[in-house]
Parts: sequence; structure tokens; C-alpha cells
Amino acid sequence: MFDLTGKIAIVTGGNGGIGLGMAQGLALAGAHVVIVGRDASKSAAAVGTLTAKGLRADAVEADVTDEAAVQAMVGEVLRRHNALHILVNNAGINIRKAAHELTLQDWSAVMDTNLTSAFICSRAAHAPMKSAGGGKVINIGSMLSIFGAPYAPAYGASKGAVVQFTRSIATAWAADNIQCNAVLPGWIDTELTRKARSDVPGLNERVLGRTPAGRWGAPADLAGIAVFLASSASDFVTGTAIPVDGGYSIS
Ligand code: NDP
Repeated sequence: MFDLTGKIAIVTGGNGGIGLGMAQGLALAGAHVVIVGRDASKSAAAVGTLTAKGLRADAVEADVTDEAAVQAMVGEVLRRHNALHILVNNAGINIRKAAHELTLQDWSAVMDTNLTSAFICSRAAHAPMKSAGGGKVINIGSMLSIFGAPYAPAYGASKGAVVQFTRSIATAWAADNIQCNAVLPGWIDTELTRKARSDVPGLNERVLGRTPAGRWGAPADLAGIAVFLASSASDFVTGTAIPVDGGYSIS
């Protein structure tokens, strides 16, 4: 039920953090994972980490905010592998400023990276998934898909919209046997949050205090949900937004 042997998966932002945690989960379940990022050397290192464990992976360089680059990236995946079954829209950034301090350029950078990229990558993946007889789209939201934070106006707006975008494509593409779901990670220890921990006073203590699991998550904590949502185990699950947060959102 969870076997992904023969499946081709794209993971955007798969060269580090949560993306690499999910990429490793998918590859351990048998998928061939294509790591997509801007930094070719970071992607090559991630591919090396996976292939050293006997897993299947390669990389394609692309900026997911660039429509033409996304088209070319999906074209390259199809040229190399002849199919696309799984897309994880994980690439994301945050610019931590209150709304009155955020520039339009900051706003657009966050929206383009976190939200518009999910649209253009999903749109590019639709035709190959349909011709494969079905597919799985996994979009990465956040606790800020649910909650507000003073330093995250664009990030929160983008992550809230990711959930609504997911519901839209889930309804549109159900007839093509493409299931689309969102994952809402809690506080996970990555480069992104290491910066937040130093930028936001008291954050570390607040996260530990509110998370019933009593710890920050690790990228590997996202592997299981990725495998579930990429596999036939979730064939009747679509349009959901599943927290993976050690209980943060119910506490
Ligand atoms: P990291 O900063 O560790 O990784 C972000 C990844 O996104 C990098 O691999 C980066 O690769 C890629 N990326 C960024 N911009 C682009 C772009 N324009 N084109 C292609 N790739 C891009 O972050 P995390 O692992 O922490 O976050 C991953 C996702 O999870 C994000 O969507 C984030 O919002 C979300 N998230 C994270 C949480 C956490 O606690 N860490 C909590 C909730 C959600 P490269 O530099 O090579 O382009």
C-alpha cells in the first residue's frame, strides 16, 4: 500500500530541511526523487546523500518562481524519466517584518516563492499526471496557514492561500485521479527556523512550552506523511490540510 517503486517524484526545495526529509522518505519507499532547487551544489550534495544510501535520486536546477524555468524543469524530468507521478511543492521562504515594514518587493518574493510556485508547478504537472492515470500533489503549508504572527504578513497570507489552492485543485483534478493535499508542519529545526530562533526573542522557549511533544520537529518527522500522501494508501484522501506538529495546533 505504501510502496512507491517505479514512481517519479519531484520535490521542490528538496536539497535541505523538510524537503530533504520528505525526499528521503519517498526514496526509501521506492520512488525515484528529483530534487529541485536553485543551488546546484546543495542539490548535488542532497542527491549524494540519498544515492550513498542506495536510493534513487537526481537533481534539476530551477527557480520555482520562474514560469519558463518550471516548464523546462518538468520537461527535463519527463525527458529523463518518461513520467511524473508525485509533486511536492515545498520550496519556501519567509521575510520576517511586520506589515508596516514590509516592502512590496518583500511581499512579492514571499508570495511568488510560497504560493505562485505551487500553482505553476502543479499546473505543469497536471498533464503528465493525467496521462499516467493519476498522481499526487503535496503542498507544504504551515502553522501560519491557521494562526497569525506579527512578523509574517506575507508568509501567513501565502500559507493560508496554499490550503485554499490545494482544495481548488483537489476538486478540479479528482476526475483525473489526482489527489492533492496540504501538510502543515509545526516548528521543525531547519535553516529557515534557525534564523527565526535568532531573530525572534523567546521563540525557542515558546515553541517548547506549547508543543505537547516537548521538542522541535526534525525533517525526518515529515517523511511518513509524505509517503502516505504519495502512495495508494491515500487514494480516497484529497483536499485535506494535515498538521504534523507534535500537537502544537491543538494545544
Ligand atoms: P529551508 O530554508 O531549509 O529550505 C528551503 C528550500 O527551498 C531550499 O531547499 C531552497 O533551495 C528552496 N527554495 C527557496 N526558494 C526557491 C526558489 N525560488 N526556487 C527553488 N527552490 C527554492 O526551509 P525549510 O525546510 O524549513 O522549509 C521548507 C518548507 O516548509 C517551506 O515551504 C516552509 O515555509 C515550510 N515550513 C517550514 C517550517 C519549519 O519549521 N521549518 C514550518 C512550517 C512550514 P535553494 O536555496 O537551492 O533554492
